[in-house]
Amino acid sequence: MNKKERALKVYGILNTKYPNVGTFLAYKNPYELLIAVILSAQCTDKRVNLVTPGLFSSFPTPERLSKGPLSLIKEKIKSINFFNNKSKNIQETAELLVLRHHSKVPQTLNELIKLPGVGRKTANVVLGQAFNTPGITVDTHVNRVSNRLGFTKQTDAVKAEKELMSLWPTDYWIKFSSILILHGRETCQARKPLCDTCEFLAYCPFNK
Ligand code: SF4
Repeated sequence: MNKKERALKVYGILNTKYPNVGTFLAYKNPYELLIAVILSAQCTDKRVNLVTPGLFSSFPTPERLSKGPLSLIKEKIKSINFFNNKSKNIQETAELLVLRHHSKVPQTLNELIKLPGVGRKTANVVLGQAFNTPGITVDTHVNRVSNRLGFTKQTDAVKAEKELMSLWPTDYWIKFSSILILHGRETCQARKPLCDTCEFLAYCPFNK
């Protein structure tokens, strides 16, 4: 089985195993998703979901968030890590949405990555989940699992992203990241992958 065939097989199996996945963050519109994804950097989605209802009830629009006050933003998200920096980033992002984008979330990667706290990973999550625009999000799980399964040897997320895009049809990209993250969390774990119970043991190069 060549790499592309293996890639399609892995996708097929995971797609059946995890039929209904999207982002694990709670949101009602692209603005809320963008802010939630910024807050989720190095933090669990579960923890972010605990603070965002309170944050969005005080700051329901980019205009409101851009006006702060910063102290109240900090108060609302103080239970998540790096809340000082994240408070500044989300307020500055809101300011730029108002000033440059008519208070809307932009729909291109290049525009999104110019917002404070938004890297390619964040941008791809927003594009995929809010606008159904295909992209592959390479986070630590996707990077590790893809390397172990032999889909890429890149450790750099941007290079890995490009390589992975060549393996799966565009239609698969949005879901691909979510299901590989789940496989990484539940089976192909960082410290001790559960290879004995893994569906891919027979053709995973990691143990060969
Ligand atoms: S066989 Fe092991 S290393 Fe390969 S994908 Fe499964 S858990 Fe990960």
